[in-house]
Amino acid sequence: MRIRHLNCASMCPPSRRFVQGEGGWLERGHIVCHCLLIEGRGGLILIDTGLGSALMERRVPLHADVKMLGVQLDPACTAKAQIEALGYQAADVRDIVVTHLDFDHAGGLGDFPQARIHVYGVELDAARARRGFVERSRYWPELWSADTRWLVHPEAGQRWFDFDAVRALPGEDAEVLLVPLAGHTRGHAGVAVKNRDGWLLHCGDAYFFHTEIAVDPYCPAGLSLFQRLLAADNRRRLHNQVRLQQLKREHGDVELFCAHCPHELRAHQMRQQPAAGGH
Ligand SMILES: [Zn+2]
Repeated sequence: MRIRHLNCASMCPPSRRFVQGEGGWLERGHIVCHCLLIEGRGGLILIDTGLGSALMERRVPLHADVKMLGVQLDPACTAKAQIEALGYQAADVRDIVVTHLDFDHAGGLGDFPQARIHVYGVELDAARARRGFVERSRYWPELWSADTRWLVHPEAGQRWFDFDAVRALPGEDAEVLLVPLAGHTRGHAGVAVKNRDGWLLHCGDAYFFHTEIAVDPYCPAGLSLFQRLLAADNRRRLHNQVRLQQLKREHGDVELFCAHCPHELRAHQMRQQPAAGGH
C-alpha cells in the first residue's frame, strides 16, 4: 500500500499578509487542496478530490467564490489528470472518502462515476438541503449527479484515540476511518489512514494553517476570519481544534494535516518518493 500527497487545486486569494501572515499586503496568497491517493491492493482510494475537471474546464457556471479565492483553473491539476499521469485510469478509483462536500473538496466527484463516495449522512443532507446563503455558496450539486454512488456512514462505531470513528472501508487492506470533526460544516469529518509508521489524519477544513494546532496556536487574521464566517457551528469548530491540538501533543506518532496549508503539503511531498507531479 502506498500513499501519495497530491495538490488538486491552487488558489491565490488577495493579500498574502492578511491571509497567511507573511509576505506583502498586496501580494496574492497561495493555498492548496491537499488530497491523498492510496494505492491499495484492491484498487485506488482517494481522500478528497479538490476541484474537478468540470470546474477547471469551465463546464459549469463559476460562482463568485472562484474569482474571490483566485482559483487557478488548471485542468492538469485535477486528481483525475494526476492519476492518469501515474499510468492509471479514473475507473481504477474504487472509493472516495470526503472530509465534506464543499466544492473545493467534492469538485472532482464527477470525474469518477464508478467510485463509491463515503460521507457522513449529516453532511449529505446539508449539501442536498443547502439552507441559507453560506450553504448555497459552498455546496454545488451540479458537481455530482443523480447516479453518484453515495455510501452514507453513521458518525460513531468505534473509538480512535479520544475520538469517535467509523471504518469506511471494511475488508480493505487500507485502514481508513471517518472521524467526526463537525463545525466547519454540519457533517465535517477527518479521515484517518494507517500507514507503516502510524496514523495520518487528514483534517480537511477543521483548521487551515499549520500553526493552528501548535503548542502556541496561531492563525493569520484573514484565515481566522474566513473560517469563522464559513463555520456552520463555530463553537464546535473551535472545540474540535482544541481536541486536535491535544491529539498532536499527546500522540506524536499521529501526523495531522489540513486541506489548505501549503507548508504541510510541501513537508509531506518532500518526504514521499518520487515527488507527485509538479503541482
Ligand atoms: Zn476547503
